[in-house]
Amino acid sequence: MTVDVTKPYDPDNIFAKILRGEIPSKKVYEDEWSYAFYDINAQAKTHILIVPKGAYVSWDDFSTKASAEEIAGFVRAVGKVARDSDLVEPGYRLLANVGHHAGQEVPHLHVHLFGGEPLGPMIA
Ligand code: 5GP
Repeated sequence: MTVDVTKPYDPDNIFAKILRGEIPSKKVYEDEWSYAFYDINAQAKTHILIVPKGAYVSWDDFSTKASAEEIAGFVRAVGKVARDSDLVEPGYRLLANVGHHAGQEVPHLHVHLFGGEPLGPMIA
């Protein structure tokens, strides 16, 4: 089922449980604002999810409600995870699905980081 981004944040969503350590994940990076872990169903040789620690349903929620400090921290974390994974050269792709048309399945903002091999024109 895809996410209705107009609904309030559900504190029992799967990524909230991962952030609280109630469900295991393979951690890649963590700082004050962000947490990164490997996707359970990799769509590319490297497929990492980066999430803000704050309670945001989607990019829309985050970009309208998060503080400038939180947004800067998260954006820097995404860049750092890519850099630390040696993906800057030869390159990588970032993707954030928002709502029904994009097929967002988990109602906690996550940015997909794909890389490690040549990527096709589109990847979900
Ligand atoms: P979306 O379609 O919402 O943009 O992407 C959700 C992503 O979360 C999918 O790529 C899916 O494989 C991943 N995912 C769903 N449940 C889990 C989980 O429990 N652990 C991890 N590591 N990834 C998950």
